Amino acid sequence: MKTATPIRRSKPAMRNSGVSRYLVGGVNSPVRAFHHVGGSPLLLAKSSSAFVSEGHRRYVDFIMGWGALILGHNSPSVVAALRKRLSRGILLGLTHEAEATLARLIAESFPSVEQVRFTVSGTEACMTAIKLARACTGRPKVLMFEGCYHGHSDAPMAGHTAGIPVGVSRETVAIPFNDVSALEGALHRWAGELACVIVEPVAANMGVIPPAADFLSTLRTLTRRHGILLIFDEVVTGFRVALGGAQQLYAIKADLTVFGKIIGGGLPIGAVGGPASLMQRLAPLGDVYHGGTFAGHPLAMAAGAATLQELKRRLPYRTLEGLSQRLAEGLWTASTEAGIPVQINRVGSMLSLFFSETPVTQAAEVQANNRERFARWAVGLRQRGILIPPSPFEALFVSTAHTEQHITALIKASKQIMQRS
Ligand SMILES: *Cc1c(COP(=O)(O)O)cnc(C)c1O
Repeated sequence: MKTATPIRRSKPAMRNSGVSRYLVGGVNSPVRAFHHVGGSPLLLAKSSSAFVSEGHRRYVDFIMGWGALILGHNSPSVVAALRKRLSRGILLGLTHEAEATLARLIAESFPSVEQVRFTVSGTEACMTAIKLARACTGRPKVLMFEGCYHGHSDAPMAGHTAGIPVGVSRETVAIPFNDVSALEGALHRWAGELACVIVEPVAANMGVIPPAADFLSTLRTLTRRHGILLIFDEVVTGFRVALGGAQQLYAIKADLTVFGKIIGGGLPIGAVGGPASLMQRLAPLGDVYHGGTFAGHPLAMAAGAATLQELKRRLPYRTLEGLSQRLAEGLWTASTEAGIPVQINRVGSMLSLFFSETPVTQAAEVQANNRERFARWAVGLRQRGILIPPSPFEALFVSTAHTEQHITALIKASKQIMQRS
């Protein structure tokens, strides 16, 4: 759940003073400031496999580039691909072959995708998908779900940041995630005005919240009935919950799909994909403008293609499932033994632990999370050399660089912290 409201201002540590002097809040993305849990921001220097380091202090990392690094830090195949690319030029300024390679790798795994347009961020890809939906339908409104994040452009951030004109905010409708009757109500009221419904098929930005049994299929049926485009924001779930993302896992085809994170192998990226009939509304063939100096950047294409090729070759999803299941069970045992009520939401290798007595199925229920307990857990883990996202609204990510040993360390440290809470 992204919000512009600062929760708590922590005093910047002395060693970080240069950082806070020249960077707003000492960061370039708010969650890195640790305001949700307290403590000073880390100033990292290095990363490798399952670890990140600040000076000589090494942490087992479960942030994993906010989900981008499914192969862990500096995966050898990605590093090799980047080296090779570097030796042949950094930015070519015109189209190069790896753009088509990465587009093909994506389309091969997503039956709903025939063509792809690359952007530099997930934000930009969501923005472009929404613009495309508005052009294709000739309708203005966007329906989204409370607590879902689709980047920080105006339409999906309406109500969550200053600086958006009322006229723009009015075109965004937000309803609770997993609530079919709210969905029916919204469609009853606005169907003729809605260009698209955009959804994270597994919510990952209010903690992990899986879709309820019929939620996505109902969404598919109703949007089709009303001629509304269904946009799956698979920036997190794409190549994460399965090679074919949430669309494979839940056997649903979106009209447009947004990608990011994993498909860049650790470099900045985003993409929109869909059938040629919709995609060809984009310039230069169509009348919807999108362009970018760095769109399809050779380094991002190289790292992304190396990542997807390795995922296709290794198919690590069973292994990731096994490790993540062990993690969920271990955390459950640790909290139960400590007498602390928790909810653990998990889909494959994305997991959230809420300090809450009741199931968490939508944004309003995330509020029941005991923020102090969460902060104590996150800070306690950091003191024990383990990093989880410093916010109850983000997911822990298990990567192929994690081993049983790292999972056990997280469980053991959690047990100690919870016993003392
Ligand atoms: C991270 C994220 C985005 C935005 O991607 P950026 O590359 O950070 O702009 C969009 N949607 C979802 C679901 C995300 O998790």
